[in-house]
Amino acid sequence: MRVLVTGGAGYIGSVCVDELMRAGHEVVVFDNLSEGHRAAIHSDARLIVGDLGDLEGLHRVFAEVKPQAVIHFAANALVGESMANPGKYYRNNVGGGLNLLEAMVAAGVSKIVFSSTCAVYGIPDTLPITEELPFRPANVYGETKLTFERMLRWYRQIHGISFVAFRYFNAAGAIDLFGEHHRIETHLIPNVLKVALGQAKQCEIFGGDYPTPDGTCVRDYIHVSDLAAAHVSALNPDVSGYYNLGTGHGFSVREVIAACEKVTGAKIPSVLKPRRAGDPPSLVADPAKARRDLGWQAHFTRIEDIVQTAWDWHRQHPTGYSD
Ligand code: UDP
Repeated sequence: MRVLVTGGAGYIGSVCVDELMRAGHEVVVFDNLSEGHRAAIHSDARLIVGDLGDLEGLHRVFAEVKPQAVIHFAANALVGESMANPGKYYRNNVGGGLNLLEAMVAAGVSKIVFSSTCAVYGIPDTLPITEELPFRPANVYGETKLTFERMLRWYRQIHGISFVAFRYFNAAGAIDLFGEHHRIETHLIPNVLKVALGQAKQCEIFGGDYPTPDGTCVRDYIHVSDLAAAHVSALNPDVSGYYNLGTGHGFSVREVIAACEKVTGAKIPSVLKPRRAGDPPSLVADPAKARRDLGWQAHFTRIEDIVQTAWDWHRQHPTGYSD
């Protein structure tokens, strides 16, 4: 298929583009490079630099590329930032997403795979999290992703657009060539690995008084290559709906730090900081629906194995991509 991948120069997008190319698809990446990197794009994929805020530009891209499907990664995705600057999240995640849907309708493109998030569930009453739990986003990031999911439902009903919304848990790890490089890094694993690389003296633990076994937040870390594989299978026309993508296992911040120490062989000092706004205590997926309907299952389930792939990439790219 010819697939337009928005945000294909970003962390998860770049790994998915690689997987799509391996599966024989033709890929055009649409990215404004605000978070993405040219060097993160597979050498055989085409890049169009553009912004989802530019509806006319999007119409031109669809007319020229004539994609058969869209995979939509492009978004702002930081919980903390969304609580300080909600306008950015509504503008890019909701407004930009709306433009994308309008351009799809105008061009007659009827399939979209969307990067959603477990943040749509907020602080769940029960764990693990199934797709049936109520939506109660605890931060603006999750709210904007939920808003786009709701838009998808109406565009399906009114315009016949078929969609798959993947609610990711915590994307982590790397593949040989492509890994995690945010210009301002806020994520746990890369920040902890910076200490092992000698780029930081200590890592920070945001909150030690959560109602979890060791008081630090628990997350379900899912390897990017497992996420990418789910996206490729979602291009099948028979697949639609909402799916959690996680391993079903949770690890606390302290357990992640311990795994990083084990993998790197370095002592990683940490300092306890106040809680970060909008962080739920525990988020762990029930991935049974994806297994049942898509035959999808995470291959990486041990946190050490996930951290090892991240460590391999960061050691090869100690300052990330060149751009
Ligand atoms: N976290 C932390 N120190 C850091 C970065 C993150 O303690 O330097 C915590 C954060 O509060 C959350 C978990 O680690 O509980 C995962 O955060 P991350 O930003 O990696 O992903 P998120 O869960 O926000 O998508």
